[in-house]
Amino acid sequence: MKSKLVIYSICIILLTVSSCKHATDSKDSVKGSSMYEASNLPHRDSAKIEKDVNALLVRMTLEEKIGQMSQISSYPNTKDMIKLIKDGEIGSILNEVDPIRINTLQHAAIEKSRLGIPLLIARDIIHGFKTVFPIPLGQAASFDPAIVEEGARVSAIEASSIGIRWTFSPMIDISRDPRWGRIAEGFGEDVYLTAIMGAAMIKGYQGDSLNSPTSIAACAKHLIGYGAAEGGRDYNSTFITERRLREVYLPPFEAAKKAGAVTFMTAFNDNDGIPATGNSFVLKEILRKEWGFNGFVVSDWGAVNEMTNHGFAANQAEAAMKAVNAGVDMEMVRQLYVKELPKLIKEGKVKESTVDEAVRNILRIKYRLGLFDNPYVNEKASVMYAPAHLKAAKRAATESVILLKNEKGILPISPSVKTVAVVGPMADAPHEQLGTWVFDGEETRTITPLRAIRNLAGNNIHVIYEPGLTYSRDTNKAGVIKAASSAAKADLVLAFVGEESILSGEAHCLADLNLQGAQSELIAALAKTGKPVVTIVMAGRPLTIGKEVEESGAVLYSFHPGTMGGPALADLLWGKAVPSGKTPVTFPKMVGQIPLYYAHNNSGRPATKTETLLKDIPIAAKQSSLGCTSFYLDAGFDPLYPFGYGLSYTTFEYSNIKLSSRALKKTDVLTITFDLKNTGRYEGTEVAQLYVQDKVGSVARPVKELKRFARVSLQPNEKKRVTLTLPIKELAFWNINMKKTIETGDFGLWVGSDSQSGKEITFKVIE
Ligand code: BGC
Repeated sequence: MKSKLVIYSICIILLTVSSCKHATDSKDSVKGSSMYEASNLPHRDSAKIEKDVNALLVRMTLEEKIGQMSQISSYPNTKDMIKLIKDGEIGSILNEVDPIRINTLQHAAIEKSRLGIPLLIARDIIHGFKTVFPIPLGQAASFDPAIVEEGARVSAIEASSIGIRWTFSPMIDISRDPRWGRIAEGFGEDVYLTAIMGAAMIKGYQGDSLNSPTSIAACAKHLIGYGAAEGGRDYNSTFITERRLREVYLPPFEAAKKAGAVTFMTAFNDNDGIPATGNSFVLKEILRKEWGFNGFVVSDWGAVNEMTNHGFAANQAEAAMKAVNAGVDMEMVRQLYVKELPKLIKEGKVKESTVDEAVRNILRIKYRLGLFDNPYVNEKASVMYAPAHLKAAKRAATESVILLKNEKGILPISPSVKTVAVVGPMADAPHEQLGTWVFDGEETRTITPLRAIRNLAGNNIHVIYEPGLTYSRDTNKAGVIKAASSAAKADLVLAFVGEESILSGEAHCLADLNLQGAQSELIAALAKTGKPVVTIVMAGRPLTIGKEVEESGAVLYSFHPGTMGGPALADLLWGKAVPSGKTPVTFPKMVGQIPLYYAHNNSGRPATKTETLLKDIPIAAKQSSLGCTSFYLDAGFDPLYPFGYGLSYTTFEYSNIKLSSRALKKTDVLTITFDLKNTGRYEGTEVAQLYVQDKVGSVARPVKELKRFARVSLQPNEKKRVTLTLPIKELAFWNINMKKTIETGDFGLWVGSDSQSGKEITFKVIE
């Protein structure tokens, strides 16, 4: 296969994703393939859409307008729903997946309601509809926007085929806390990586043209700061300063706007006392005025009403008033707008022009989706689990896996291994490997590692299967003994551990990140047999697996890999594919280190890594500083694995790094070139990473920030010259006066295989 060089050097946050070079235009990729369908609907330009929207708006009663601003969750009583639709009381329905019913409801909207406004049918398609891709955190580990775009395209094709035209994805909340169950749903801790991946996902959902029948509207969520929930406990408050909002939490959303996301969702949390659903600064000043967004904003589920729980609204009327006045155009699960807005308008607490604006925003997107021209769906078409979709899901799963350890080159499995013991509760758990937010993917269509390994092994390799534990929380150790005795009969042990799907996702937060149940005892018992143990972790978040890593010869971290996780893992284990994933989030050694992320500030007393640790403190120690730096006595300073970390079966060497200049003006573009050589025995792909540090600023700056990355595929011994470009304007930050500015001075730059490697090179930014 021809090797590939894929550089994410011009994909900057403030450029649209369409200008990104995602991948070499390989035939396999979704780009240029039939997965993008040209629209066969009449083209409506934006001026025509505005004209149509306004013409419709003047014909609407206040009740009909408020109806468009209300979304319900589907329920079994069709007659009842049809009545609401006929009366113009709802604009959108979520959670309806029967195409026949969707057409029935749509017919009611078009033919029986006074104005014939189509419904917008929505669903949470977070990482696949029927064909399930790895959880977004796993996809982030690929550092490959092309697989993210392709996955979203597949989701859009499958979902739109039954009439769904809106998904509540991507979730681009930065999360630096693996206790938070929803870390699974996002792209990890990094601002740049999240922005790139979010934009790619939006492009995949929305396609080349929103009114193509296979395009679905994306929804960038959750504005804002939701991933910073205090203590990693879902829905909890956040206290993020405006500077940090603008530096860390908002940029992926701005990138989403630039990528064309037509809807945004507010978050559940209050930031510094202001619930996101009532935050007009974010929704109006930033989203509408600064970024020029003209799609619509939906609240999260019941979040308008919840402003009373927050203590931000005295009653439901006040909650509705605050949400609509803050810029929430549509209320998810119709509770308060229908009930409260008519009176609020009469009382002058909400202007009718505010309602008009919200309705315009909603209708504009319905027109752009082509719903007025073609609201119905072909009930018989079936595209689910198409071979191309499964192939894409397998590619995504393969690229999402991170090799954390590979002692003595245990992996790939040598042909001399004739008997393998497959162990662990995740080895044959089709439902569990799908991960969180899977409503539509089916376990019967999911290929587990056990099935894939048996298939690959054929008659050549003897596979012994002894799960040891029946599910991840199982504490019954009887099976552990059985598994260990099976392991003793094998040449190699494959231990599949991790978390069941239900342990991550919304409201599924954990205070303890060790392996659940008796899984740790299982690994210990397997290690005791003296046989080489390969541990494969399938989870929704980074787990504190330091002990199990020590006991294993090799460790693969696959997150929840989806429908095709089994074949992807089998290929990787036997070297038909080579791991290339990198940690999209820092892996802590202990929960107490959280929040732990690479782009932290230095502090006045940074750790020197020579500090005295707990085990070295003498008994009856006299009062002494033990270092007087920022570290933990028990955990030290370093994480278990830093951001961007991941091994390959081969090795790579970076050399000859050159900068185009060491003194650059603010308008210049820095070009970084370096040689990357495959110095090992296997063809492999390296994710080369570029980090920058602004040494001194009017406010302290992070010790490192990811600015570029490139996936580079190399044959053994092959060397390539890689070029990355970085416009100096991307070094701007929100300075002491809260102005986005590039400050002159010294910068450090690193090129390497993770956030801790590479030799520092310096350059200056001058006037
Ligand atoms: C979640 C959203 C989701 C919505 C609809 C909420 O609980 O926070 O992310 O899109 O439900 O299912």
